Amino acid sequence: MDLQILVDTVREYQDTWRHTMTVTYTCRYCRSTVGKIDESVNEMRLGFHWLTPEERKDIISYDMNGDTHVRVVCETCQDMLEKNPDLLLLKNPFQ
Ligand SMILES: [Zn+2]
Repeated sequence: MDLQILVDTVREYQDTWRHTMTVTYTCRYCRSTVGKIDESVNEMRLGFHWLTPEERKDIISYDMNGDTHVRVVCETCQDMLEKNPDLLLLKNPFQ
């Protein structure tokens, strides 16, 4: 295969992948959906590259559809944690 064709194919694949990728932000405590991004995104834009590999593993997961799930803390839980810092010691304080 011609190298240029190979490069184009990869580029096309990456474009398709980026356009179909959905990023869902889910609260790590109450599991509510905080937000969703359907537009063209990549990890650089989302700032994932700032995370250490351990943080990435903890925060980001990929499902079988190729969608990305990011675990965050929603406003309600953020409030709750600020008022009750002890809850941080529990793994799933609201379940
Ligand atoms: Zn929450």
